[in-house]
Amino acid sequence: MNSCCALPVETIARNEHLTNGECCLITDVSQAPATAPCPVSQTAGRKIQRRTLESLLKPYARELLQPAQYYYCADPTCPIVYFSNAHVRTFSIGELTVPVFDKDKSEETSVCYCFDWTRGRIRDQIVETGKSTAAVEIAQKVKAGECACDVKNPKGRCCLGDVNAVVKETLRNLSR
Ligand SMILES: [Zn+2]
Repeated sequence: MNSCCALPVETIARNEHLTNGECCLITDVSQAPATAPCPVSQTAGRKIQRRTLESLLKPYARELLQPAQYYYCADPTCPIVYFSNAHVRTFSIGELTVPVFDKDKSEETSVCYCFDWTRGRIRDQIVETGKSTAAVEIAQKVKAGECACDVKNPKGRCCLGDVNAVVKETLRNLSR
């Protein structure tokens, strides 16, 4: 087991388990630049592993994948999800089999794609109990080696930063 998931559950739950933002599911050691600008929004996108695209693109779009390095655009206002610095076709939100958390604010959209925590499920639990167990529950599963962010989360990496942000925002909104 990689050292990041060997840390205590509480550390993982706080999203403090990542070394340089990476985790044991990031095994692509390509020499391509770590970031590249999205051709539409100019946002600096992070390098993404090929298996993330292969897993989440609709079948017809998967056929259009080129032997290039792809990047992920996190800009909430930009329709592009994946692009390359190699001037090949981009892939936008409708071409994935799942809605993209960063670009879709609906309650049904997953925050944690591995264990089905949507914005709505997080909010409902907080309304009911006053707190969220999402981060700790996810961290327990991460520690057990059950997460698969590299092939389930469109951003191809750990969701705990997003989960903690949604919990914080929901608590703030409900206390107003
Ligand atoms: Zn973009």
